[in-house]
Formats: sequence, C-alpha cells, structure tokens
Amino acid sequence: RAKTNGKARTETYRRDTHQRVRSQFHLETELRRAVERGELDLHYQPIIDLEKNSLHGFEALARWQHRDKGFVSPREFIPLAEETGVIVDLGRWAFQAACHQIRAWQDTYGTEAVPAVNVNVSGIQFARDNVAQVAETALLEAGIAGEKLRIELTESAIMSNPSSISEVLHRLKRIGVKVALDDFGTGYSSLTYLHQFPIDVIKIDRSFISQLQRDNHQYKILTMVALLAQSLGLEVIAEGLEDADHLDMLRGLAFNSAQGFYFSKPVTAEDAGRMIAGESPWLPAALAE
Ligand code: C2E
Ligand code: MG
Ligand code: MG
Ligand code: MG
Repeated sequence: RAKTNGKARTETYRRDTHQRVRSQFHLETELRRAVERGELDLHYQPIIDLEKNSLHGFEALARWQHRDKGFVSPREFIPLAEETGVIVDLGRWAFQAACHQIRAWQDTYGTEAVPAVNVNVSGIQFARDNVAQVAETALLEAGIAGEKLRIELTESAIMSNPSSISEVLHRLKRIGVKVALDDFGTGYSSLTYLHQFPIDVIKIDRSFISQLQRDNHQYKILTMVALLAQSLGLEVIAEGLEDADHLDMLRGLAFNSAQGFYFSKPVTAEDAGRMIAGESPWLPAALAE
C-alpha cells in the first residue's frame, strides 16, 4: 500500500512539475508574442520636485494585460524576460514607446512643459544589446532631445559588467541622457561607484523610506547619503513615499525629489498628460497637507 501511495505521489508530483513547466513555457511564448505585437504598455509614475512642489519627471513602468490572467506584474514577467532573452526586444520596445510618448506630449503640451522620463534597463540588456545605440536610435526616430530621457539601472547591473557598462554610460552622457542608480541601498552600495561611473541621480530604495522614523538608524544613514550626494553634485530621489509623515521627514533631509503612492501610482499616458498640463488636482492636494 505504501508503495502504491508513494507511486501515486510521484505521479502527482510529476504531473504538477510538468504543468508548472508547461505554464511557464506558455507564459514565455505569450510574453514574446505580446512584445512582438506591441501589446505591452507603459505606465508613468510622477517624480515630484520637493523644493518647487512641481512635476520633476516620470518613471516609465512596463505593464502587461494578459487576456486570461489579467494584470501580470513586472516583478513576474521582467525576470522571465531576463531568463529567456526576451528582455532585449522588451527593452528596445520600452525605449521606443517612451520616446514616442515624450514626442506626443511635446506636440500637445509644448516641449518645455514635458519633463524627463526614466526608462529601466536591466543588467542583461547591457550584456546582450547595445543600450546606448538603442537609446540614441529611439531618440532620433522620435525627434526628441537626449535630456528628455534618463535611464535607471541597479548596482548589481553595474557589478555584473563594470567596464563595458562604464563605456555605455559615458556614451549616453554624451548624448544628454542622464543615469540614475536605482534601488540604492539594497545592493552592495559601494560608494565608490558614485565617482567611478558617470551617475547623475541616486534613487533611495523604498525599503529605507518605509522604515524611516525620526532619528532612527535609517534616518541617520539617509542624512549621510543626502549630504554625500550633495557634495558630489548628485541628485537624490526617494522611492516609495507612502504618507505625509514620510514627506515631512524627507523635507528635513537634503532630498531633491520623491516618488511614491502618496503622490500617485503609475498612471496611463493620458493621465500623465493631464499632470503635465497641470489639470490633475492630485499634486496640490497631496502637498497641501
Ligand atoms: P523599480 O524600477 O524599482 O520601480 C519601482 C516600483 O515600485 C514599481 O513597481 C512601482 O509601481 C513601485 N512603487 C512606486 N511607488 C511605490 C510606493 O509608494 N509603495 C510601493 N509599495 N510601491 C511603489 P512595478 O511597476 O511593479 O515594477 C517592478 C520592477 O519591475 C521595477 O522596479 C523594475 O525593476 C522592473 N521593471 C518595470 N518596468 C520595466 C521595464 O520596462 N524594463 C525593465 N528592465 N524593468 C522594468
Ligand atoms: Mg526603476
Ligand atoms: Mg526603484
Ligand atoms: Mg525597486
């Protein structure tokens, strides 16, 4: 009997694994197809200038609406895209889509009114594609200035290939594209990166902000980071600002800008357009408190 049970269990296990592998395979195929057919979308989360209380920029975030599964999180499909190499096409699409959107906003609201848009780039993209070339082509095709585009990359991406990434970043800098170090504080955070690589902006990871309390450990670290950044001429953005307390504390530190659900979740291009036009009531409401 025990033997039969064991066998049945093994069978079940096999079937489950098989199903998992199959559904993973389906998702991969569908992701590839969605990228090819342009079925992904970019949403835009505003970054707020804390000194001027105004719109400082946007972060572009990929969205995938699957016809059966509904919304699939980038925390699921970006790692899948990285494992399967789909990230190369997805990354090219993201640059093109962001640049075309910037152009469309410029045509509607005027070039001056449109702030810079950050596009996320994963380490695998640097390894497998010519990111500087891709960005440059997207800018040219859309007919927009390099200053309107920024890239975000993580410390681990830099770690994976420091010398070749340095070259790419220098090339981006020459065409006016600024570079932001994303999720700062979660990786190895070697402060030496900040002067070894042409980094213009650091984005403090949301895990720091969520744990922030006046004069706790995180607060002291952020005080130092903000001072350091200031002395190196870097811009600092706080990620994951969720309430008014966070905002109060950040105002006491030398942070230039912040991003988070407290201001706005990532929104459609259309809603982001309303923010550019100053038609959206969200900003004054959040800052009035
Ligand atoms: P990320 O680049 O660190 O992006 C910030 C993430 O934090 C976004 O999640 C955003 O929606 C979320 N977030 C913003 N404010 C708050 C807040 O106040 N509270 C909380 N709890 N979360 C907040 P999202 O859109 O799910 O993206 C997850 C990650 O997927 C991104 O992290 C990025 O690493 C990756 N990703 C998204 N789009 C792309 C893309 O086009 N290309 C690449 N290579 N990666 C992407
Ligand atoms: Mg990012
Ligand atoms: Mg981030
Ligand atoms: Mg993050």
